[in-house]
Amino acid sequence: MKTPQLFGTNGIRGVPNQDLTLDLATGIGRAIGTFFNSEKIAIAKDTRISGDMFMFAVSSGVMSTGADITYIGELPTPGLQYYCKVNKIPGIMITASHNPPQYNGIKAIDSDGTEIDEDKEVKIEEIYINKRYSTAEWDKIGNYNYDNTGIDLYINSIISSIDSEAISKSNIRVAIDTGNGASYYTSPEILTRLNCHPVSLNANPDGKFSSRNSEPKPENLSDLISIMKTGKFNIGVAHDGDADRCVFIDEKGNFIDGDRSLALIVKNTVKRGDTVVTPVSSSDALSEICTEKGAKLILTRVGAPIVARAMIDNKATLGGEENGGIIYGTHQYCRDGAMTMALMLNLLAREKKPLSELLKGIPEYYMVKTSVPRNIEWEEMKELLTKKFTENMFDFTDGVKIYDKEGWTLIRPSGTEKIVRVFSESKKEAVARECNKKYVTFLKEL
Ligand code: MG
Repeated sequence: MKTPQLFGTNGIRGVPNQDLTLDLATGIGRAIGTFFNSEKIAIAKDTRISGDMFMFAVSSGVMSTGADITYIGELPTPGLQYYCKVNKIPGIMITASHNPPQYNGIKAIDSDGTEIDEDKEVKIEEIYINKRYSTAEWDKIGNYNYDNTGIDLYINSIISSIDSEAISKSNIRVAIDTGNGASYYTSPEILTRLNCHPVSLNANPDGKFSSRNSEPKPENLSDLISIMKTGKFNIGVAHDGDADRCVFIDEKGNFIDGDRSLALIVKNTVKRGDTVVTPVSSSDALSEICTEKGAKLILTRVGAPIVARAMIDNKATLGGEENGGIIYGTHQYCRDGAMTMALMLNLLAREKKPLSELLKGIPEYYMVKTSVPRNIEWEEMKELLTKKFTENMFDFTDGVKIYDKEGWTLIRPSGTEKIVRVFSESKKEAVARECNKKYVTFLKEL
């Protein structure tokens, strides 16, 4: 199978007017229009400064192939995906997710609302590289329309996927940090309609991300964490730039790892016999919870579109990644920050306990994440690893996962940099550190 060259794990990314040029954007628009051969294609963008420029460039490319463009606004990637799913049309998202503000990107959405798979990315790239574009006659060129109903469609679909009445009566107070990104309107609006009296931080669209780095990591959320430490809120919520991810802060101001919030949502959402999907990099806490609930857990390669596809194939209820990207199959098969927030509120309303209390029911694991430079080919590295640690169990779903007595280590080459990532997990912090050190030392010697 060929792997796409321009499309990375989450679309095409780059710095505008440098590696992500206007020509590239127009060409990709032409290629996407040619590939889908659809009457209509929806488009949306996040709040980045170059958003307008790329939206018009990509749209021009699409219209030249004969397809109409429907612009639905500045909204989260899952908002566009829901619009595509409901209207059964393909879509294009202009976003660089959590990347620094100078970046932007292009992501293609299938007419079922999921991100297109690698096969389709390769086909789009081939059209682009060989310039095999469809070119419409002058009277068949597409036009440009607005549809401002997309935002409400998305908001309503989330509210109707949960027990909104129970949440409204629960007097849950929420602080939310949308990081100047695409969820600046949608998520605070959902919270208001759910009677959560939100206090919103950075809820103004600002393509420079002036207030904080767009990735929802604890070091970027110090303002939200301080607000939570006042003790006036039940839960803190933060999204990345395009709001397909959601992380939480408990009522005491503690940041919750994405693995743990996913495990908590799984624990309170799935039923016996349900299926859950997650990449091999996720914590074993999730497999413990699935065993406890009588749910089946499927482990895939790393990457949200891969998890989403596996969920469709296995009719899974929930899936997700350790970075706060949670997929609720009942609503739609893509990572969705606002849906994740709503699922968490749903369980707070039902359980009537503080978040920190509820998290005590999730087994504790320690994960150590490091990386080492890659000086030799990955295949060779992989072979040397399997030859050296012959007494261990291996899993090759993605990279090499090596099982030690009390933990595991996942070693994967990065798709964008010449490094390998080394994740080690164990119930014991010392074991996780020891394992990580053992493999890192070996890899460094290669
Ligand atoms: Mg994102």
